Amino acid sequence: MTLQERDKKHIWHPLKQHQTHPNSLGIVKAKGCILTDEHGNEYIDAISSWYTCMFGHCNDFITNRVYQQMQQLDQIMFSDFTHPAAVELSEKLIQILPENQAKIFFNDNGSTAVESAIKMALQYYFNIGDKRTTFIAFENGFHGDTFGAMSTSGLSVYNGPFEDFLINIHRIPVPNGENHAEILEQLSEIITNNKIAAFVYEPIVQGAAGMKIHNIEGLNQIIEYCKNNDVLTIADEVMTGFGKTGKNFASDHVATKPDIICLSKALTGGLVPMAITSCTQKIYDAFLSNDIAKGYFHCHTYSANPIGCAAAIASIDLLTSEKIQESIRRISTSHIEFSEKIKTHAKVKSTRSIGVIFALDLDTNMERYGTLRDLLLSSFMKEGVFLRPLGNTIYIQVPYVITDEQLEKVYTTIEKVLNQL
Ligand SMILES: *Cc1c(COP(=O)(O)O)cnc(C)c1O
Repeated sequence: MTLQERDKKHIWHPLKQHQTHPNSLGIVKAKGCILTDEHGNEYIDAISSWYTCMFGHCNDFITNRVYQQMQQLDQIMFSDFTHPAAVELSEKLIQILPENQAKIFFNDNGSTAVESAIKMALQYYFNIGDKRTTFIAFENGFHGDTFGAMSTSGLSVYNGPFEDFLINIHRIPVPNGENHAEILEQLSEIITNNKIAAFVYEPIVQGAAGMKIHNIEGLNQIIEYCKNNDVLTIADEVMTGFGKTGKNFASDHVATKPDIICLSKALTGGLVPMAITSCTQKIYDAFLSNDIAKGYFHCHTYSANPIGCAAAIASIDLLTSEKIQESIRRISTSHIEFSEKIKTHAKVKSTRSIGVIFALDLDTNMERYGTLRDLLLSSFMKEGVFLRPLGNTIYIQVPYVITDEQLEKVYTTIEKVLNQL
């Protein structure tokens, strides 16, 4: 029996309607940018397995560091103890995060990094005696699948059964370069009439929405307006963090810095799940008190797991190396050249890119999980490239270690498949 057949017996996959999509391809190996399936076929991982494995799969530098850590200290309760890998990681992160970030709180996935940020914002106001109940978020944002994160997500296509239990959110449009005044007017009304704790946003690029890129000055004005009106700002950098936009963090492109930042995905280079919620000294100080209940009583068993910390330290060492920075610039330049070329294709409506993120919109209406999307996905796979269209968007987010030949193959495959449409 193949893995695919055995899988069907006991496994329930995420984001899947098993009745119409019963098959999951067995992947038995991944190295660098190449995935190998159970039949020996190879695929270029052109989306870095959901933007996690940015330094390539099974990167020797990261796996060696993790192996050393595994022989030294595997797991320890972080409520009671600290350890070298957590301390070193906190120091490294503070060095590269926006300059206003001062404290590092550990979680174990992107959703809980956001969940934690939401709870921090609510308790911040509770602790200072100014109870708040509501949040602001962008239309079509995505922040994860736990209740708080799901509430802030605007991509609520499949949230039907849970809607009665979501927290209160006011939505604003994303800044497109022409709607600044309109957004600020809406913000002013929302903030005046509600007890807003925080504004939650994906800085500059909305990933799950189809790599939608925002107007940076417009975003800056929104963040600034929130700050001036006593609304905390939470940047969800789970997708954009660690070099994707050409800078270490998307917030580095924006003049006004967030109070809280959520990190995960590429944090460990895709090796193990881990997440972080960082914040300013001002947020942290509001939890200091002789009253124990004012402390932050949120914890995950695997908080600051040493293996995860070791993988994250190694990933940051790679990210900040000249070699990887050079690759990021090389991929960004290639994307701009490809964008110029493909944007005149008859099937392409528009293209956009920032850093290593490239996206094109097809000139057709497409359901998020419809038949055209399935056809595209299988056509790419037949050509040996893993690309996962989002609605009518095809996007690329390759590992930084991709070779020029591999990247060229991703481009030519997209062209070839579009020609067949
Ligand atoms: C993936 C993602 C999340 C959720 O992270 P998980 O680890 O899947 O829970 C949250 N926010 C953004 C922007 C993401 O891309």
